[in-house]
Amino acid sequence: MSSTGTRTGVTVRVPAKVNVRLAVGGARPDGYHDLANVFLAVSLYDEVTAVRSPGGVRVSCSGPDAPQVPLDSTNLAARAAEALAARHGIAPDVHLHIAKDIPVAGGMAGGSADGAAALLACDTLWGLSTPRDELLALCAELGSDVPFSLLGGAALGTGRGEHLTPLPVGGDFHWVFAVADGGLSTPAVYAEFDRLTAGTAVPPPVATPALLEALRTGDPTALAATLANDLQPAALSLRPSLAATLTTGTTAGALAALVSGSGPTTAFLVKDPEAAQSVATALLQSGTCRTARVATSPAEGAVVVGAPPRQ
Ligand code: ATP
Repeated sequence: MSSTGTRTGVTVRVPAKVNVRLAVGGARPDGYHDLANVFLAVSLYDEVTAVRSPGGVRVSCSGPDAPQVPLDSTNLAARAAEALAARHGIAPDVHLHIAKDIPVAGGMAGGSADGAAALLACDTLWGLSTPRDELLALCAELGSDVPFSLLGGAALGTGRGEHLTPLPVGGDFHWVFAVADGGLSTPAVYAEFDRLTAGTAVPPPVATPALLEALRTGDPTALAATLANDLQPAALSLRPSLAATLTTGTTAGALAALVSGSGPTTAFLVKDPEAAQSVATALLQSGTCRTARVATSPAEGAVVVGAPPRQ
């Protein structure tokens, strides 16, 4: 397959993420928060297929959560295609189809994943060969979680989370994700964080050496001891029912449980695939979540997985 502009369609697979440490500083004058955000990519994937199509960007979506995905110019995949085309001075003539398996508004960066995937798919479709650092810069303009979706693996994000340092991971970690009914708005969770921390001295955000060491050695018990999410009290305040989900998973044998990002998905670190199955079964039977998904990490970042033959 040529890497120049002869393809008619390109499919990119992109992973969800869990934040194994989300340390949040106080609100800055611009309203954003400084973060120390340790991302880990997990094996739940969306696939974005880009096909040449005249008349600008068009988006379609399939999957159980598809009705909640906007198909207009606010979709991050559409914005990515527009941004890449503008960067190169070409028309953004493309149909983007999102096969969505990442929970929507679940704190697993599904929209960000689609933005990164669309960027890579269009870059390949249009034969642009944009340098990797320029793709990462375009990702950062789209949103603070988007660069990590392109990168995958594990990384420490600082600033608003968009300055990324890749981290070594010494083994596979096993997870169960409990998907809640309905989403939580990330801005609403940050607003609740601000309300809960008003008048207190919020310490500068840091990722502890113990956490980075647990990732480096691939030790799930050590990682379990260091998992933490500063947004968890805010997510629980807005969605108190998540407390029962967390308790169900730990009672069923999870090494640790936490809210994923801004929630409402909850993440359970388990010691092996067998434990993942029994925790997932307990969560499903408890009725405290809509569904439970088993996944492993680290997962690779956005990658081209398919392209129809040349016409
Ligand atoms: P994060 O973890 O980055 O805070 P999230 O996983 O909680 O995000 P998303 O699934 O990215 O949430 O969806 C958040 C909102 O973004 C949705 O409610 C939707 O309106 C909008 N959105 C824009 N593009 C997409 C997309 N491609 N897929 C899903 N949602 C999208």
